[in-house]
Amino acid sequence: MKTSAYAGTYIEEVIVSLSNLYADVEEATGAFAAHYGIACPSGCGSCCERFIPDITHSEAVYIAAHLIFELGDDEIIERIHRHDGSGCPLYRSDTPFHCSVYPARPLVCRLYGSSAYHDKYGNTLFRSCRFVKAETTPRLPHFGEHVVRVQDFSYRLRSLDRDRGELSLLTELLPGLLEQLRFIATLAPFRDDPEEPLAG
Ligand code: SF4
Repeated sequence: MKTSAYAGTYIEEVIVSLSNLYADVEEATGAFAAHYGIACPSGCGSCCERFIPDITHSEAVYIAAHLIFELGDDEIIERIHRHDGSGCPLYRSDTPFHCSVYPARPLVCRLYGSSAYHDKYGNTLFRSCRFVKAETTPRLPHFGEHVVRVQDFSYRLRSLDRDRGELSLLTELLPGLLEQLRFIATLAPFRDDPEEPLAG
């Protein structure tokens, strides 16, 4: 992302922390999917059409910053404000991977269908996406040692937030943050010292 507009603010802290986390997630899920032969069907975006992700405050900041400072796409922002509650407002059938903010998508979207989880007894389980056909994803992989579990990353994600990482629907968090960051964006060109924090 372009960092000059928010250098020295809490937005930069969030983006640095989440970029590191997401890079680790991408590496781990990529290796996991390759090792166990798991793959989404080409061109499928069915999960996003029927789903609104739960995200942390930091993740909402990250997405809002991507929309305002990177994409500057008012049409997507308006769609989020007008959202009618059905499906993810960031889903678009005509974009690569069907996500308007693919580089900034939240953790749950990165892990869905490409990670396992452990139950309360410590068993490692895998629930494949119901839209995935058997030929692209084995239903019950036999897991060896190198398994990515949702919990490995969700604890780390939640530790980044000041409010203990409470989760809320993307559609509840994003509209207010978009307005906050839009305001910060209007101040950025007039700042004398980009190292001076705007917000704490
Ligand atoms: S944020 Fe992107 S990947 Fe996640 S549900 Fe919405 S459109 Fe799909």
